[in-house]
Amino acid sequence: MSTENHPSNIASYELGAYRPPSEAYSLLLRLTRNCPWNRCRFCEMYKGQKFELRSVEEVNRDILTVAQIRDEIAALASSPIYANSIRKAAATILNDPPNYVYQNVALWLYKGGQNVFLQDANSLVMRTPELVEVLTFLKATLPTINRITSYCRAKTAALKKLEELKAIHEAGLTRLHIGLESGSDTVLKLIDKGVTSAEEIEGGKKVVASGISLSEYYLLGIGGKALWREHAVESARVLNAIAPDFIRVRTLSVNERLLMWPDVENGTFVRATDEEMMEELKLLIQNLDCHANFVSDHMGNLLQEVEGKLPEDKEKMLAVIARFQALSPQERQVYRIGRRARYYTSLDDLKDPGQHRVVEQIIERLSGGTGQVDERIVCKMRENM
Ligand code: SF4
Repeated sequence: MSTENHPSNIASYELGAYRPPSEAYSLLLRLTRNCPWNRCRFCEMYKGQKFELRSVEEVNRDILTVAQIRDEIAALASSPIYANSIRKAAATILNDPPNYVYQNVALWLYKGGQNVFLQDANSLVMRTPELVEVLTFLKATLPTINRITSYCRAKTAALKKLEELKAIHEAGLTRLHIGLESGSDTVLKLIDKGVTSAEEIEGGKKVVASGISLSEYYLLGIGGKALWREHAVESARVLNAIAPDFIRVRTLSVNERLLMWPDVENGTFVRATDEEMMEELKLLIQNLDCHANFVSDHMGNLLQEVEGKLPEDKEKMLAVIARFQALSPQERQVYRIGRRARYYTSLDDLKDPGQHRVVEQIIERLSGGTGQVDERIVCKMRENM
């Protein structure tokens, strides 16, 4: 991002590093720094970073700075060249934003200025009156906003009273993203998630009852070879009990920076292959009997087309998995490598002869001419995505 043509006293404020993919065009507003739990053994997001609450004054100052930048862009839009089009003025800022804050605000305005994502890992950990105060100020200062979302731990939601969650919803919070990961108590303990399946259900049900829309994230592969069945069946049990609005799938990605890495190295945790994870995904979907939108909005997932509305699209989703499983072992490898090398987005891409040849060449190279790529290389490709 260029800063060459911009004065050094340009407006700025603090941004966190993460947001869900579904919040790509949202205004980012940091309520807390990092994660108050920070112990999950599969997660590297905030490791080494100290958790801190931010004060209401600090956050409200940031909201005022957003308003200032919005007003600057509105003033730019009022010049004849933009004919009062905020979108066009925002596009100009996006071409050469002076910093990430301007980029975020301009992108947010370009997309209609409606959505906000509250950072970092667990905004609900703020005291309820303070969170309500921030939300109220945010909506009053930026009145175009109609959707405010945040990450949250299930345990924190379980500890809030239903009346508190309702007050937070009334103040403007519309959706929470909770990392369920698994509904198996064995798996939850092994990954040090710091929550039980009973607490996951309690927290999730309370969020749903409060009127806040709920996204629950399922972590495909976190049971490994040993616990994948229990992981899938128990997660379906928990998700059925909660009935969240969205079930979102993520695929486990491990690397040497994770707390669970020694388990991978010494063989205590054995990673499932893509084929095994498709069997796990099938078992999960077969056992789901709630009403929810099933979403696969992450590029780390092998079959992103396994999406739909439950229960009506269940068979359609299972049919995609069956189609993959019916491929010959060679074709499954072509798809897996093509997907991990970012050539393929869906099974239909296998029909493109040009792309097929390119992926075959990649397999030839990666396998050293044997035609069979080592599973560790496939894991590495998956984890690099
Ligand atoms: S609660 Fe979320 S952000 Fe915190 S360590 Fe666990 S997975 Fe990572």
